[in-house]
Amino acid sequence: MSSKPDASRPRAADTKKVHIADTQMTRQNWYKHVNWLNVTFIIGIPLAGCAQAFWVPLQLKTAIWAVIYYFFTGLGITAGYHRLWAHCSYSATLPLRIWLALVGGGAVEGSIRWWARDHRAHHRYTDTDKDPYSVRKGLLYSHLGWMVMKQNPKRIGRTDITDLNEDPVVVWQHRNYIKVVLTMGLAVPMLVSGLGWGDWYGGFVYAGILRIFFVQQATFCVNSLAHWLGDQPFDDRNSPRDHIITALVTLGEGYHNFHHEFPSDYRNAIEWHQYDPTKWTIWTCKQLGLAYDLKQFRSNEIEKGRVQQLQKKIDQKRAKLDWGTPLDQLPVMEWDDYVEQTKNGRGLISIAGVVHDVTDFIKDHPGGKAMIKSGLGKDATAMFNGGVYYHSNGAHNLLSTMRVGVIRGGGEVEIWKRAQKENSEYVRDETGQRIIRAGQQVTKMPEPIPTADAA
Ligand SMILES: [Zn+2]
Ligand SMILES: [Zn+2]
Repeated sequence: MSSKPDASRPRAADTKKVHIADTQMTRQNWYKHVNWLNVTFIIGIPLAGCAQAFWVPLQLKTAIWAVIYYFFTGLGITAGYHRLWAHCSYSATLPLRIWLALVGGGAVEGSIRWWARDHRAHHRYTDTDKDPYSVRKGLLYSHLGWMVMKQNPKRIGRTDITDLNEDPVVVWQHRNYIKVVLTMGLAVPMLVSGLGWGDWYGGFVYAGILRIFFVQQATFCVNSLAHWLGDQPFDDRNSPRDHIITALVTLGEGYHNFHHEFPSDYRNAIEWHQYDPTKWTIWTCKQLGLAYDLKQFRSNEIEKGRVQQLQKKIDQKRAKLDWGTPLDQLPVMEWDDYVEQTKNGRGLISIAGVVHDVTDFIKDHPGGKAMIKSGLGKDATAMFNGGVYYHSNGAHNLLSTMRVGVIRGGGEVEIWKRAQKENSEYVRDETGQRIIRAGQQVTKMPEPIPTADAA
């Protein structure tokens, strides 16, 4: 056998068939890109249900049953597939696991094993090419497209599902998935309304097919709407968002920014007034002894994330504002030069060793023209800081935008000390912007000066 490498032979990758998803879609091959099985399950059958609904009358009892079964199967996905199996945010006893595996199967969204594997990849590789339902590929793609079109499974990020393979309920459900779908998706809803009040066909159409359609569309919104609509109170580097509308549609999965930050928390909504029936269900199961070990992040950690995101937003806002030229970038003026320029008609005023050009502001001065003019060409530090009037924080802020120089001389050392302070890293945000806090403007004296040299 030749020890030569593969140079003469085609490389392994070339001999393998290229996955259809990795080829260009053309007019000739488009149908090969479509996942027809999924199209049948999530588009074809629901459409057939809609058509049948035209001539199958809807009975009140069947309607109520369809809504109830909608919640059962929807919670099978949110409390079961998602929070229990994909995220292990709590532990469930065997009876509860069997129940969730059955009703979750009734939502017809694939087996727990398949669903949770993709969902773990979604969390691990959010918004990247390895995210099976990345919203970066479009809202429609994240909602339906990823199932309707074939995906190369090798491109989906790898995740560890050894824990799921060790759960006999998960393995059983995966092996018997079609039976579970037929029984829980169609037979059970039909049997209940058929045996209960004789509405076999209504049960099949409304509690079966149309209910499946609504549950599917609702839970698909977690992948689409929850990555597109709403606020990002915890982190805005990725797409997940919080919104009440998404929460209402998805049985409480709408606080998705929180969820991506704290995925192993059994809650999605942390405030009592937010809508999270999945959380309430898990909590109730705990009271009934069916669920235990409910995981919760400490509120200290949650608040830290919230504060950091707020800080980031504040930094972005601050960066857009005019805070005046930094002291160390201002020209140094001699006192005599300052006085001279004022005599020549320039409206300069020195406060705390910083020279401000108020020429255009004199007419707008809330305290009157005369008052501000009396300070021109003088050291108006005391006048500004309580000697004549104890100026507001807003006045100090406005004044800083009029800076034109700093005075050499008596106040110099003090000024440079403050310039240094203004520059120090402790008063800068992470983007390097200066932070000027209320009451810490350089023109502000620590204590109001009661009377001054004016006396
Ligand atoms: Zn997500
Ligand atoms: Zn999740």
